[in-house]
Amino acid sequence: MMPESSIPQTGSSLPEQDSGTYAQCLGSALDAISQAVFIHDRTSGEPIFENATARDLGMARHEEAGLMRAIEEAVADALGGRFKKHTFSIFGPPRRDFVIHTKPARDATAVVTVVEDLTVRNQLDAIRRDFVANVSHELRTPIGALGLLAETLAYEDDPAVRQRLANRIQNETFRVAKVIDDLLDLSRIESEGASHKEPTDLADLCHEVVEQMASAADTARVELGFAIEDSGFVIEADRRQMRSAIANLIDNAIKYSDKDSWVRVGLRRAEDGRIEISVADHGIGIPQKDLERIFERFYRVDQARSRQTGGTGLGLSIVRHAVNNHNGAVEVESREGAGTTFRILLPSSDGDGQ
Ligand code: ADP
Repeated sequence: MMPESSIPQTGSSLPEQDSGTYAQCLGSALDAISQAVFIHDRTSGEPIFENATARDLGMARHEEAGLMRAIEEAVADALGGRFKKHTFSIFGPPRRDFVIHTKPARDATAVVTVVEDLTVRNQLDAIRRDFVANVSHELRTPIGALGLLAETLAYEDDPAVRQRLANRIQNETFRVAKVIDDLLDLSRIESEGASHKEPTDLADLCHEVVEQMASAADTARVELGFAIEDSGFVIEADRRQMRSAIANLIDNAIKYSDKDSWVRVGLRRAEDGRIEISVADHGIGIPQKDLERIFERFYRVDQARSRQTGGTGLGLSIVRHAVNNHNGAVEVESREGAGTTFRILLPSSDGDGQ
């Protein structure tokens, strides 16, 4: 590696500038960026400069050795006058994607190579594409059904059948509205953070939600109970977000339980001092392999059951974001056929826990 002072001075706009100081500043600036930068002398092919990221790549681990070879190829091409964009991927897992740009510099007597790591950008693009595809699919399906139902209704004379069709139209409309409401809820919770925090008694809040969910539990013939082991659970919280998180957990517990089953909502202080809100059911359980994916948007273990019970696949994403906004954590424990317990763990107002 060459010393930083040998960085070529570009242009003639700084005639008074001390070239050593200027090169040092430029070297520090290039060291501060996340792209790897290499400069090679075009006549000798020798390296003139590498920034800190490039030096790090030079000490490549086994999986990065391929990237170094791709960079050497790109530099060799450029030294031979072929300036083209090279791409390189490490298939991992995890997959990593790079793009290597080469450009002539210093009146074409040097070659500058910049290596960009596109991994995070590509991952974000994939998440955005999946999200748009999922939203479109979630809305397209009920809207398609609505069209067909309305068409059938228009040609149906039997009042009983007309009534049935009208009910189904109403149900599909609720479904579209629920997806949109959940999307709006999620986007608000993500973008706002917990901006409306106020002293909140979690026992009162849990009571409120349990009452609000009582008729859904009755309809599903599931017994819904609430147990508090302690008192004084008042924390600074965004009521609306916490209510939404608890309601989504209870809603799932009811939805994924069979008739004559039970759901228990608990509130207690965990051993580590954090406040624990738990929702336990005796329902169908979640397979081990799905546990780490259930918090993703639109991820469902059983697509058909979720749809049938009016699920949008967004409930647990809402829970996770709301809890994150309160510096908390969500844990899940489940056994297929035996039941599931979700736990929200929140630091107390006095800053302990976590
Ligand atoms: P949904 O609207 O489909 O319920 P969620 O994001 O709330 O979406 O949950 C994601 C998936 O996790 C559900 O589709 C379901 O497969 C699974 N799940 C969530 N809670 C439970 C539970 N208490 N018991 C069994 N499965 C559950």
